[in-house]
Amino acid sequence: MTYDPQNIFARILRGEIPCQKVFESEHALAFHDIHPQAPVHVLVIPKGAYVSLQDFSATASPDELTGFFRAVAAVAQQLGLVEAGYRALANVGSNGGQEVPHFHVHLFGGRRLGSMLGRG
Ligand code: AMP
Repeated sequence: MTYDPQNIFARILRGEIPCQKVFESEHALAFHDIHPQAPVHVLVIPKGAYVSLQDFSATASPDELTGFFRAVAAVAQQLGLVEAGYRALANVGSNGGQEVPHFHVHLFGGRRLGSMLGRG
């Protein structure tokens, strides 16, 4: 899949569309999901143009990889998710149910999240 620079998260990164920002660093941006599925539902995205977790983990630079995963940890800490625990999820491609073709990790928390896979 080639990267589409008009995808909604690319537009958020360029400031063309607003977001409810919770964290920003050199390599990552985190903001609240527009349709939260848990009391806390935040998306963490890299600033680079990567389509998916597959693309990012295979091709991003060591600095981008480190910067992104440090951001995930910082966001979870900042939102108070660490002690009680949380779920991190990355949908990849059509079987994974990925809707937005810019890599993102969902962070869910604030309640017990139940079994891992839905039936949808
Ligand atoms: P995925 O199915 O993993 O690609 O998830 C995409 C997520 O992006 C969904 O949970 C949407 O609710 C969320 N989303 C779509 N547009 C926006 C937006 N403008 N701001 C915040 N979250 C969004």
